Amino acid sequence: MRWDGQKLATEDASALPGLRRMAGLLRSTRTPEFSGVTFHEIACKSALSRVPAQSHMPFEWTINPTRGCLHQCTYCFARKTHEYLDLDSGRDFDTQIIVKTNIVDVLRRELAKPSWKHEPVALGTNSDPYMRAEGRYQLMPGIIRALSDSGTPFSILTKGPLLKRDLPLLAEASRRVDIGIGVSLAFAHAHLQQQVEPGTPTPQARLDLIKAVSDAGFACGVMAMPILPWLTDGDEHLDLLFSRLAAAGASGVTAGALHLRPGAREWFLQWLAREYPQLVARYQGLYNGGTYASKDYRHWLAGRVRYFQSRHGLTGRAAQLRVLKAPSTRSADSLNADSSTLPALSLAEPTLF
Ligand code: SF4
Repeated sequence: MRWDGQKLATEDASALPGLRRMAGLLRSTRTPEFSGVTFHEIACKSALSRVPAQSHMPFEWTINPTRGCLHQCTYCFARKTHEYLDLDSGRDFDTQIIVKTNIVDVLRRELAKPSWKHEPVALGTNSDPYMRAEGRYQLMPGIIRALSDSGTPFSILTKGPLLKRDLPLLAEASRRVDIGIGVSLAFAHAHLQQQVEPGTPTPQARLDLIKAVSDAGFACGVMAMPILPWLTDGDEHLDLLFSRLAAAGASGVTAGALHLRPGAREWFLQWLAREYPQLVARYQGLYNGGTYASKDYRHWLAGRVRYFQSRHGLTGRAAQLRVLKAPSTRSADSLNADSSTLPALSLAEPTLF
């Protein structure tokens, strides 16, 4: 999606040079609570984005209330999308955050159209809807209400414990629509997590989130991606991570090797060269200039993942995390009876969180 499609008449001369053309820009602002970050508040023209058919995603629609992400994951596939905004996929993606301040009103209008078919909508595909900025803008409660009021099922994938704030609202919404919740966590140790994803909450904070989601009556699937060759793919790490996920109440886990797509590749390899220069040649050999690790490696890793999924009882809903309503709304039997009709939250891709 390019900004041309969002075009409104306003333009703010105080925006950074590359942002002069940002359509719908209302203002660019900084605040002491977010050091080094600029928020570009825009009035968007659309809220629902259709997923291109060639992307092979298991859903057709997404909502991203923000662009750019304070979680700053070095491996993030969404980095490339910042280039569509005349921003770079590195530091700008981490610090130049576009906020669709009117998204709730726009979404309600779109959901009210007779042509809307109430297909499942995924949140958390290009930016984390519960990054810290959500505490400032508080867009998610309105989005959740708009979706549930319209009878639209949806899924959320996040690394942000701020989702706990909305669990009562989500439980209420689950009485009307099917909701899937997933948490992204691929690191057992905070030291490496802070290196690779410097803006994300600690592993313990996310384990606490998984427990809170589970305690609220939702199945909480976990995406343990990306697994980093020679850094987090060892048996000791996978065993520790999966045991903690199981103890926290995760309903299933999907794990797979790092992808190095253009946009993420440059950023991640810069980080690798800085922090683990001894691994650069090994990564180059493993990825051979492409997006995916070698077939042999992926096959080997899949075997280790299956072993630890089984060992920790995380096999049930590993590949696809089906929506589970809050327990007070349906009996277990009725859930089983119509589970085939429930929308699925796929954790097949690391950016889909
Ligand atoms: S991978 Fe997700 S949480 Fe990390 S920077 Fe990208 S959008 Fe944000």
